[in-house]
Amino acid sequence: MPLPFQLDHINLWLLEDTDGWTLVDTGLANDATRGIWLKIFADGFRGRPVVRVLVTHFHPDHMGLAGWLTDQWRAPMWATHGEWATARMLSLDQTAALRDAHMAFYRRADFPREILDDLAALGNVYATRANPPPATMHRLREGDRVSIGGREWRVIVGTGHSPEHACLYCEEAGVLISGDQVLPKITPIIGVWPTEPEGDPLRLYLDSLRQFANLPEDVTVLPSHGLPFLGLAARIRDIEHHHHRRLDHALKACAEWVTGWELLNKLFTRSLDLHQKTFALGESLAHVHYLMKDGRIVREMGNDGVFRYRRA
Ligand SMILES: [Zn+2]
Repeated sequence: MPLPFQLDHINLWLLEDTDGWTLVDTGLANDATRGIWLKIFADGFRGRPVVRVLVTHFHPDHMGLAGWLTDQWRAPMWATHGEWATARMLSLDQTAALRDAHMAFYRRADFPREILDDLAALGNVYATRANPPPATMHRLREGDRVSIGGREWRVIVGTGHSPEHACLYCEEAGVLISGDQVLPKITPIIGVWPTEPEGDPLRLYLDSLRQFANLPEDVTVLPSHGLPFLGLAARIRDIEHHHHRRLDHALKACAEWVTGWELLNKLFTRSLDLHQKTFALGESLAHVHYLMKDGRIVREMGNDGVFRYRRA
């Protein structure tokens, strides 16, 4: 399914079920995506209905149309509680408290005034890209066995990229639907976000990657972005190396006291749009918070209300 971003597509999966189709992930909530789904519906689905909409995690490209698709087909949504609840909250939250939390987060990072103004004008970006997911859901938990088309799929819950990201592993088919948890070319964004400003998501992510390293070497991985691939264990080692290199870069960037804004500009040298700047700050802080928890970086709050970081 196309995405109107630099990352220009998302892979959605259609699993033949006993009495219809199970969809895995949905695409963004926009007219283009709805139009493509309507065309797929019209082309027939081999005359069989959608019986379940299973969603890996709350990000808009994955869960954005879950509400619409479940309405269209009167089908239930299956997801972890954490992902469903996060999507439900963010898609409906228009409170000043949420806006204030966002602005306070970027002010503490010393974002320049004009960028803060642009961010304030954007408002709740999540709600513009994701419709509210349905008010009811079927909960997926770590280790659940889900029968799809007579095959058993085991739920593996990953963390770090999102609260409780559901991956699906079918031993019989030798297939892992990895969502964004493990991607072949790019690494999934691991970020500290305004709603959990003291988070240590990189530790969560690296810890949760270990549970995938034990899957059989010949497993075919179906990622949400990029092509299906083999060599899961090697890819996990690459991703771990990438983050350890980024941890070294972050440590070097903190030789002198730096603000979040200075840090992201040291770690990301290419030009970034507004949205990418927030992602770059999230990623930079994920590495710095990891190092802070390990006692390798210290943080101070200045009289100006800005956090500064330095090597311990
Ligand atoms: Zn994602």
